Formats: sequence, C-alpha cells, structure tokens
Amino acid sequence: MSDKPVYVTQPYLPPLEEFLPYLEQIWANKTLTNGGPMHQQLEQALCDYLGVEHIALFNNGTIALLTALQSLRVTGEVITTPYSFVATAHSLLWNGIKPVFVDIDPVTLNMDPARIEAAITPQTTAIMPVHCYGHPCDVDAIQKIADTYNLRVIYDAAHAFGVKDAGGSLLRHGDLSVLSFHATKVFNTFEGGAIVCPDAKTKQRINQLKNFGFVDEVTVIAPGINGKMSEINAAFGLLQLKHIDQALARRAEIDARYRAGLAGIKGIHLVEEAGQTVANYSYFPLLVEAAYPLDRDALYQRLKDNNIFGRRYFYPLISNFPMYSGMTSAQRNNLPVANRIADKVLCLPIYPALDDQDIDRIINVVRRG
Ligand SMILES: *Cc1c(COP(=O)(O)O)cnc(C)c1O
Repeated sequence: MSDKPVYVTQPYLPPLEEFLPYLEQIWANKTLTNGGPMHQQLEQALCDYLGVEHIALFNNGTIALLTALQSLRVTGEVITTPYSFVATAHSLLWNGIKPVFVDIDPVTLNMDPARIEAAITPQTTAIMPVHCYGHPCDVDAIQKIADTYNLRVIYDAAHAFGVKDAGGSLLRHGDLSVLSFHATKVFNTFEGGAIVCPDAKTKQRINQLKNFGFVDEVTVIAPGINGKMSEINAAFGLLQLKHIDQALARRAEIDARYRAGLAGIKGIHLVEEAGQTVANYSYFPLLVEAAYPLDRDALYQRLKDNNIFGRRYFYPLISNFPMYSGMTSAQRNNLPVANRIADKVLCLPIYPALDDQDIDRIINVVRRG
C-alpha cells in the first residue's frame, strides 16, 4: 500500500490565483446571486461553447430535473431507466410522478427504445432517458415514440456535457435536457446544473420557477423553488470553461491509454463509445465477465488493496432501492439486462490530473487479475 491513493474522479481545479480576479469582481459588483453579471456571462458562454440557444443555470442538477418536470407540467407516469444515478428517479417521486422502469440495451447501456411502447399506459405523460456515461441514447427512436403517443421527452444529460452527434450538440434533443455541474462531473461549478431550453419563452418560465415563481416584485404565478446559481459558482464556471478543452483532451488521452493497455484481457469487456462525433470521456466503465479470474466485487477489492478506488456505477440499480423495489416495473424479471450489467460493471479512475504512471499501475492490477 505504498502507492498514493487514486480515486475514481478528482475535481478539476484551475490554479487558485486565477480565481482571485473573479472574486474581486464579485466584491466590486456587490451582487451575490439572483442572476447577476457572472450568472449572465456564464449562461452566454455555455451557449456559445455547447452550441445551444438557451440555457437556464441552476444550483444543482437535481433541482434542475425537478424544475424541468414542473415546467412541462408532467404528471402521472414517466418511463425511465433503472441504470442511472438515483437522482433521475428521485426527481419523479418528488414531483408525485410514478417512475416506470424499462430495461437497457446491452451494448449502449442506455434505455432500450424497443421496450418503451409496452410500458406506456393512459397515465404516461413523458419519457426520461439518460445519456449514460455521456454515450448518446437512440434519440431518433425515442422521439418517434414520443411523437406517436404525444409524450414529452426530458433527457437527464448530467453526463453529456460537450457531447456532440452528427447534427451538433447532443443537448438539443427532446423537449429539455438537464445538465449537472457537480464537483464529480466533467465540467463543474462546485455544485450546479442547467436546463437546455428550445426557446426564450420556455427559458422564461423556467427562470420564474427557479425563483419561487416571481415574475415581478409583487407577482407570483406558480409554486416555484429556489434553484438559482450563485455568483461565486457562476464565476468558477467561467474560469473552468477557460480550461475545459485542455481537460477534455487529457481525458481522451487517458481513455486511449486504458484501451490500449487493457485490450485483449480475457473476461474484461470495455464499454465502447456509442457513435458520438465528440465524446467527453466522463467515465471509464468496463464489464467483468465470467471468463475473468475474479468476479467484479473481487476485482473492485483487489484494486482497493492497491489503493485504487473504482466505483460500481451503477450498482445497486435505482430499481433495487427500497422506495422503488416494490413497483411492478422494478422487478428483476422486467429488467434482466440492467441487473446483469449492474453486477458486472466497474468504473476505473479518470480525471485530467491522473498521470500515466498511475494509469499503468491500474492497468497492471487489472491485467494480473
Ligand atoms: C450527478 C447526476 C445527477 C444529479 O446532479 P446533481 O448536480 O448532483 O444534483 C442526476 N443524474 C445523473 C445521471 C447524475 O449523474
């Protein structure tokens, strides 16, 4: 255990002295929140960087998900994936909506569109898919079903910052896409999130909802929430954005080094990129198959014994947590692929500051078995 510990991720922190001028500006402006100058600049800068028209910033991704559902007045049942971070389904329960889980595709690990239609009932109002690991969902198939049954589509795009497909930003799909800027994500504002909106009117409604429902000093038009991003978080986002291309380039190098070093190990299956034209390398998931000498949990422990802390994203499945496990759609026989994958998946460390020596150390532990 002499090697230094390596965790699954490490927040990307630009040099501290680069942040000080931003703080001086905030002190000079004396605006700390409520859509101040940093907030406005970050919204514009993110629209430019991501190639989208309208972005509403939030204090975190979960409140952004809650607000996205409120803004579209989604009720009843929403079809979603069990293979995600628990906030995806929690955002439905907090809105009094019943999540209906459908199984995932064994290759992309995203919601399997072929299973959506069978899950639709008269109560279904929307679909909430996740671009898991930043790998694009089958957006065309999902939209086709949504159009046929008149359903809304809200993408949990928490992993999909900067991802592009042949037509441009992945975030343009669906009625709304929701980002997370949590410290563990590719682009972070310590805590933060955003909703990508199709037009100015939708953004205006979302802005009202994230500010208690106020439309002017004395008028409240809806039971809104406090979802506002503070100036200090927005300022950090502006600084982070200056470094993002470099950070993403290093992630790409790490991904390539892992793929070369881990190629051809019996029983280690690397989850492939899913056809995006620009990837963000936000995670490095692999599947530990039966042909490998250790099972997934034993490899997870072996890495730990070597001071390497992977994460079993996504295990347990959302559908196996107690507030969901009693639901009909959460039963294991409805979700065989997701349950199988959750028992095999392991995400290896990936973050810009991870050096080649540590990558090779990780590769060697996996190779030795
Ligand atoms: C991180 C994450 C969220 C929640 O975002 P927060 O900003 O932490 O609230 C939601 N969904 C997925 C898939 C995530 O990975």
